[in-house]
Amino acid sequence: MRNAEEIWTLVDAKKAAFEALSDRVWDAPEIAYTEYAAVAEHTGMLRAQGFRVTENIAGIPTAVMGEAGDEGPVIAILGEFDALPGLSQKAGVARHDPVDAGGSGHACGHNLLGSAAMLAATAVKDWLAEQGIKGRVRYYGCPAEENGAGKLFMVREGAFSDVDIAISWHPAPFAAVNPAISLANLEVDFTFTGRASHAAAAPHLGRSALDAVELMNVGVNYMREHMPSDARIHYATLDAGGVAPNVVQARAKVRYLIRARELPELRGLVARVKNIAEGAALMTETKVVSQAVSGMSNLLGNKPLEQAMYDNLVRLGPPEFDAEDRKFAEQIRATLRPDDIAGAHTRFGIPVDMKTPLCDRIVPLGANGGGTGIGSTDVGDVSWVVPTVQMRGATYAIGTPGHSWQLTAQGQSPLAKKGMVHAAKVMAATAMDAIRDPALVASAKAELAARTDGNPYICPLDPEVKPHLDMADGH
Ligand SMILES: [Zn+2]
Repeated sequence: MRNAEEIWTLVDAKKAAFEALSDRVWDAPEIAYTEYAAVAEHTGMLRAQGFRVTENIAGIPTAVMGEAGDEGPVIAILGEFDALPGLSQKAGVARHDPVDAGGSGHACGHNLLGSAAMLAATAVKDWLAEQGIKGRVRYYGCPAEENGAGKLFMVREGAFSDVDIAISWHPAPFAAVNPAISLANLEVDFTFTGRASHAAAAPHLGRSALDAVELMNVGVNYMREHMPSDARIHYATLDAGGVAPNVVQARAKVRYLIRARELPELRGLVARVKNIAEGAALMTETKVVSQAVSGMSNLLGNKPLEQAMYDNLVRLGPPEFDAEDRKFAEQIRATLRPDDIAGAHTRFGIPVDMKTPLCDRIVPLGANGGGTGIGSTDVGDVSWVVPTVQMRGATYAIGTPGHSWQLTAQGQSPLAKKGMVHAAKVMAATAMDAIRDPALVASAKAELAARTDGNPYICPLDPEVKPHLDMADGH
């Protein structure tokens, strides 16, 4: 018996203040690296709760860390607070109705994510103080998860170098321990430079950078047949060289987003894409320069920590939603397609149930969707340097698509707050286990050491690539 109930009482004691924090962050949505109001709210709350605060982590103005306790193991609980562009939506309304047409919105639930993580850290802090136990707990407020890889830069600058265990969560339709699947990715810009010329009078003098982009895309599309089936490559033309077809385009720029299961596989694919770019430049007598702009590592799982978190989740049971919560969830689900609802189950590797609107179960440990619906997260970079575990907290109607107005609409609802507090309890109890059980920390570290033996973390971004603090203007 690990007496998790005590820590859950500490979570409940302070939940109202953190629900209000989540609401304030929801009310002022800010995207990558512009989260000034959110980080001010989080910093103020850290101070109010008595944490020792360090601002400007890794030189990023919207990254903050609060620490409490002394000596002992260092447990990091990771939070986020960035929003998404174009997903403004009124709260508590089951029809598309933006607060601010074209404005940003919390369509990934990061208002809940940051508040629950700090609530968990606060409960652990209070427990350490009450019990006089040696150990430190930290809350990391991490910016720019959606677009900007804030945690990658924090890892690269050593923000987690003395951390023993990292814990996080993400809003979801179901309560589960996160399966350790996410893709490593790298975004690379390829800029081709040719020679302008009159396209009719002197076409033989021109060398088209736009031709080079098109040939590069053709080359990469032929490569798809010969790459791992779960790798992904997407591209967007950032600069087509102008709008005049009668001028040979002297400059063109294409952005590639390359995703793969593991970092070494990603590095291999990026090298092949760069070769194709060189080939396109050779064919068109243009020059190409490549520049990595963002990236993330894949997640490394950690079985001892996943088991500990799962045991806490099972002991706590699913969130207790009421009839009002289910009614609102049903209204949201009336706006979804059956595919959305079925797909939510298959992604979690559980049988499809079209009738139940809100999570009423714990997804079994090890269930996963066999690779469907995998994205990327910058928690991956942390997981390569610190044993890391995450849960999914049930905070929205089953079937709600990620990054949708329906998700924004649920972000201040009582059901989302129940899921948020529920996640905080599981994270706090897992942190408590790690502080009280040195064998758990040792086995978590041994597993990470074995996973990275001969395959160490190499940051996907070169040292000269800095956080895009100006990304708000349309990165
Ligand atoms: Zn998210």
